Amino acid sequence: MKNLKSNKKFIISPNIFIVFILFLIVISTNLINKSIKDNKTINNDINNKDSISNNVASINSKNNNETTSEDINLLYNNPNDEYLVLVNKEHSLEENYEPNDLVIPNIPLQTSSDMTAHVRYQVAVELENMFNDAKKDGINLIGISGYRSCDYQTTVYNDAVANEGVVAADSYVAHPGHSEHQTGLSIDILSSEYSTLDEGFENTEAFKWLSENINSYGFIIRYPKGKEDITGYSYEPWHLRYVGKNAAKEITENQLTLEEYLK
Ligand SMILES: [Zn+2]
Repeated sequence: MKNLKSNKKFIISPNIFIVFILFLIVISTNLINKSIKDNKTINNDINNKDSISNNVASINSKNNNETTSEDINLLYNNPNDEYLVLVNKEHSLEENYEPNDLVIPNIPLQTSSDMTAHVRYQVAVELENMFNDAKKDGINLIGISGYRSCDYQTTVYNDAVANEGVVAADSYVAHPGHSEHQTGLSIDILSSEYSTLDEGFENTEAFKWLSENINSYGFIIRYPKGKEDITGYSYEPWHLRYVGKNAAKEITENQLTLEEYLK
């Protein structure tokens, strides 16, 4: 009995060994496949990140509704500088994007709503410095419109279309999601001597002062004269955009637009 059992064991063992080897082969094949798949996913992610870097804010993530506000900040801001986000007719923000550091600057304001009195914190700091310094030179600047939500921009755009038609509206009003005002980095500025948002502001003492000084506070004239083809917008002497002091200096000294600077 003892021997028989022993023999049986001896006969079965190779079978078990073969089954075990087959099992190992199946498992390792699966692991190798999984590893290749993971690598592909990682490579795809890296490629996607590269394309995000190249296109700065060229994100169309309407299909990604689960994006957190941190993710949105990461996606929509230039990876190297959060103040160099590019928003124009080709590059849009997500509908629900709202900067998380909006404040009302302590400057003279004539905004149409409480919301449009807001700008991002760093912008507010520089606006207060700039308005105070302008005042010392006898220039009384007035903030007209800062942050605009996507909903608000929808109203602005629809009103413009109703009043002037699509073609005229498109030349000076951004489509919802494409307004730079949604970044919280832009503000329309006029002065006590001139209260209309039109090209006539260019001929004021206030605009002369702004042209000579805004770079020192990190601002640029975002839609300059003669660059309409590049920016996609009519000349707007009143629309200032915060980009930080270094970029502002380089953009203005080289007579660039933000589009050209970021290329
Ligand atoms: Zn504006």
